Amino acid sequence: MKKAIININGVVQGVGFRPYILKLARKYNLAGYIENREYGVHMEVTGTGSSLRSFLNHLRHNPPPAAEIFDLDCVFKEADGSPSAALIIKASRREGAVSTFIPPDMSVCDACIKELSSENDRRYRYPFITCNDCGPRFSIIYGLPYDRPQTVMNEFPLCPECLAEYNDAECRRCHAQIISCPHDGPVLSFWEHGREAAPGNQAALQKALDRLKEGAVVAVKGIGGFHLACLAGSGQAVAALRRFKNRQTKPLALMARDLATIRRYARCSGQEISLLTSREKPIVILRKNDPCALNHIAPGIRTLGFMLPYSPLHFLLLQEFPLLVMTSGNMEGEVIIKDNDEAMEKLSPITPYFLLHNRKIINQCDDSILMAGKCGPVFLRRARGYVPSPVKIAPGKECGPVLATGADMKGCFALARNGFVWLSQFLGDLAEASNYHFFLENLRWFENAFDLKPQAVVSDLHPSYFSGEIGETYAKKHGLAHYRMQHHKAHIYSVMAEYDLRTAIGVAFDGTGYGEDGRIWGGEFFVLGRGGDERVAHLKYFPLLGGEKAVWELERLILGYLPRIFGAAWKTYYQPDDADKAALLVDLCSKGRNAVPTSSMGRLFDTVSALLGICRSPAYDGEAAVLLEAAAAGARTQEKYPWELVGSCTPWEIDVDGMIKKISTEHRCGRNIPRMARKFHNTISDIIATTALRIREKYRENNICLSGGVFQNRIILDQTVEKLSAQGFKTFINRKVPINDGGIALGQVYGFILRGGN
Ligand code: ZN
Ligand code: FE
Repeated sequence: MKKAIININGVVQGVGFRPYILKLARKYNLAGYIENREYGVHMEVTGTGSSLRSFLNHLRHNPPPAAEIFDLDCVFKEADGSPSAALIIKASRREGAVSTFIPPDMSVCDACIKELSSENDRRYRYPFITCNDCGPRFSIIYGLPYDRPQTVMNEFPLCPECLAEYNDAECRRCHAQIISCPHDGPVLSFWEHGREAAPGNQAALQKALDRLKEGAVVAVKGIGGFHLACLAGSGQAVAALRRFKNRQTKPLALMARDLATIRRYARCSGQEISLLTSREKPIVILRKNDPCALNHIAPGIRTLGFMLPYSPLHFLLLQEFPLLVMTSGNMEGEVIIKDNDEAMEKLSPITPYFLLHNRKIINQCDDSILMAGKCGPVFLRRARGYVPSPVKIAPGKECGPVLATGADMKGCFALARNGFVWLSQFLGDLAEASNYHFFLENLRWFENAFDLKPQAVVSDLHPSYFSGEIGETYAKKHGLAHYRMQHHKAHIYSVMAEYDLRTAIGVAFDGTGYGEDGRIWGGEFFVLGRGGDERVAHLKYFPLLGGEKAVWELERLILGYLPRIFGAAWKTYYQPDDADKAALLVDLCSKGRNAVPTSSMGRLFDTVSALLGICRSPAYDGEAAVLLEAAAAGARTQEKYPWELVGSCTPWEIDVDGMIKKISTEHRCGRNIPRMARKFHNTISDIIATTALRIREKYRENNICLSGGVFQNRIILDQTVEKLSAQGFKTFINRKVPINDGGIALGQVYGFILRGGN
């Protein structure tokens, strides 16, 4: 007889690992014990040499579905004495620093759905049904090791029946930490105008269904926070939602009963289907079948964001209605609400109806959002279902804990240790005071849960970013060094981190980022990681009249561009609403006042959108570009506009004056708008492909990384990747973190490591 002493590091707690080992041990006739430890699981098993080998083989190749093994260490010894009869689960222990992982929230599994729907099951229509393979984790956990006392389920002692399941090695709820049933678990309640109108699961659910059917908005407490739900067809409810959230035109997320329902409205590729039906159940951005369908949900654009039910409660709601609007319960820009009292207070102006429950939420977490174009899935928001799974990076195994505070508009921090990077969930715009606190609260949770004590801090270069201020304060308080990293370089480092690249050409196209010369960057080409990080090309600077104001009043962009190109004749190409104000702005600009120079590619998209009359006062960040893309999707042409790469030494400048001139002229002649929008898109991908060739010629670098908010534009992303690949480049984009500013924190960590910690 032999004894194997096994230590496993990875996502092995909260995923049914111990019961799985119990079953496996019986199959191979092994005895001994298993316990949860601060680094994962530890076990000592005895059996014949061949059965131990088969056991290990099985474990390595078929771990439980939600588990992920990063490291398995095994030592064989001669067994001493006669082994006990079976494998047992010992109480969890913690002796040192935590180095294991917490699983993300998982959508309800098929086996649970089956019980939920069978009348004879004791959990028939029970909204909190869960098992070893499914249910919330991250959102309900205080810390490690993952056992019931460390979750919000500590308030609900198990009834004898549940306890029997918990102890039954044959049951799929054996050692499942958060199980419950209608006798011992959390309960729903329905509230109207601040009074409890229906207590108890089924009565509360029925009331909510009734109110939804009447066309009302109902606030529903879910897994990671509150949703505001209403029938997708109820124009009135949707209009009320938009008024309340101050969100006139921004698309709203939809939850559909099943794939068949989604297909009625949108096309889905195989890849999109596998995302929709994955255990993570994110929102997936799909192309509408009919551009005008559900126009009140996503006005003027050709896509819709769909998700499938992911909690048992959603499943019960969607049984009644095929399609619900499910938008996060918060004010626009604020963090999703998690507590009952706060929800009743803050959401009461929009609805008197609340479907609540008494299971607490510890970590609030919005729905994640992905799109899948020709070049695969891309994150637009990484939160529920993915956080807190770490991103693995190869170099820096020796790297001490580092904190990176990310960027401001799409808040997200990162904590790194030994090649693992934990990224927080999406934290919203840090300019919102509540999100700022949410950032600090979460940082504390991550530090405690994973025993992370940063030894250095990295922040964005921007002098007035809140994330920079947080980093500064944190570093001071703990006596640590505080490093600053340029925004667009961090974008590219985030891609390099995912693919373990040491050198690359980087194309960072986005709306805004503070440059090393104090100007606003955003149309940038770099060569990174060759003992330096050179900016080799950028969009030629153009003036932003009134700085930030130009983000919302796009006329200011036109007034910054046209007079430079056409001189006094600019008025023949554009007639401003307020001629006096326009004249004043142009005059100030010509004197070099009230104008901030920028190389922002996002602002170039806005300029063209405004020039074509598509959008001049966006209602949300990026709307002008989104509508421009929608227009371009309606045209087919390979044509492009003129542009030039100028300058004898680097950084070269990308001069698009010729394009703006041509667009203005064509627009004056009344040319077809979608066709012009398409030609603009073709020009941008041509700029990338052509500039990349020039850079490769000079620097002999064949890796190219694309990142930044502009690449959320599917036409740009697909066309660019296609052109670069045709030119023989190895092209890389963000896969594990958002391609927008939500991925910056990962780049800050990796850039810090690549530069050797300075
Ligand atoms: Zn389940
Ligand atoms: Fe950015």
